Amino acid sequence: MGKFINKYFLLFVVFAFLFVVIEFVLKQQVEEYAIYENNAKLENILTNQKALHSYVENMQKPVIYKLKKENKLYDEFFDPNILSFTYIARNIHALENKILEENNSSTKYYKLASNNPRNPFNTANDFEKDLIKKFNNSTLKEYKEVIEENGEKFLYFAKPVGANQESCMKCHSDPKNAPQELLNIYGNEKGFYEKVGEIRAIISIKIPLDKELKNAFKYYNTVSIIIFLSLLIIYIVISYLMRKNDKKQQRLEELVNIDQLTHCYNRRAFISDIQYEIELSKRTKNNFSLITFDIDFFKYINDTYGHQRGDEVLMKISKIVDRMNRNYDKFYRVGGEEFMILCPSTNLENAIQIAERVRRSIEIYKLDDITNVTVSIGVCEYNENDDYESLYKKVDNALYLAKNNGRNRVEACLK
Ligand code: GH3
Ligand code: MG
Ligand code: MG
Repeated sequence: MGKFINKYFLLFVVFAFLFVVIEFVLKQQVEEYAIYENNAKLENILTNQKALHSYVENMQKPVIYKLKKENKLYDEFFDPNILSFTYIARNIHALENKILEENNSSTKYYKLASNNPRNPFNTANDFEKDLIKKFNNSTLKEYKEVIEENGEKFLYFAKPVGANQESCMKCHSDPKNAPQELLNIYGNEKGFYEKVGEIRAIISIKIPLDKELKNAFKYYNTVSIIIFLSLLIIYIVISYLMRKNDKKQQRLEELVNIDQLTHCYNRRAFISDIQYEIELSKRTKNNFSLITFDIDFFKYINDTYGHQRGDEVLMKISKIVDRMNRNYDKFYRVGGEEFMILCPSTNLENAIQIAERVRRSIEIYKLDDITNVTVSIGVCEYNENDDYESLYKKVDNALYLAKNNGRNRVEACLK
């Protein structure tokens, strides 16, 4: 039985393990999906920024400079609304976030972080400062990682704004070259003395992953339930088939251990059980007893009433003994008309009492026209020096004694 429990338990463990592994992989996929989705958003932001930067530098500024050159616009004109990429980008982004907020969509953290910005809003934090240093000093081209803030996950990304170009220098080198209106707005300290080729700012973007994660987890939950139910059904079907097979096996095993005529256990079962019982007794020091009986003058019954009636006697006697047997005693037909009763945890005295009851029950039983069916019984108790051979001999000697002393009696082997 223990063997079966282990087998089913093992199957359960395998399925549970399979479920955990699938769930683990699935969960990772969910996170990867959220990152993948946000990467697309990120690409989009960056493309827009690039286009915007290019538009301000190559389209807007030349128009203003041309107007100034043609004296259609005074030389000191400066308005960040059309001349500062940083200013324009930040304001477009603020507008975008406002719209997102109105639509209940998650907003994005977007900053053009700089060490020396004109607008304090753009001042790089320590982390961003460190990144600016790294971008200027190493070959690092961009920086990306998933971060967690207050239990929320974000995709963080940073990339340098294109290094200072000649076109930037009018407003970012010496304040003397800068338009008066710019100085009026921002003063002559912040955002000056930059060098061409130097990276002065980074685009610092933080996109919340939670919305995508939430969406993906909705599918994850549904898929998890489907996988769980599928595995459960497969587990139930497999264990049902295994159980069915086990039952078949058990019946086959029973068949080879059961006597076809009397339906009690056969000699094969007796040999295996007695060896097990000897082993057990050696370990537990708990003695057992053996009872054997043989029908008296059975040959006479066969000869007088026929072999078929002889068979019926064997069946009837088996039924009588089986019915009066204690649950834990086991009853065997070990020969033609020879039987054994194995009595676990039973001493000789008790075994003799059992044997006497068996003898008496058979003696008083009326088998239609067949009268006087009796049995002779031998009893012995296992002792620690016994093995299968010596035990069999002991109980057989007792039976022999019972036959010799007049039959229909119980004799015990006292040694
Ligand atoms: P005793 O009191 O000494 O045991 O005498 P007995 O006649 O019972 O002893 P014996 O061993 O000489 O005879 C046993 C007989 O049992 C011989 C055999 O024909 C018969 N027998 C053995 N197996 C079966 C069986 O399956 N069915 C029937 N009907 N008879 C069987
Ligand atoms: Mg006999
Ligand atoms: Mg016999």
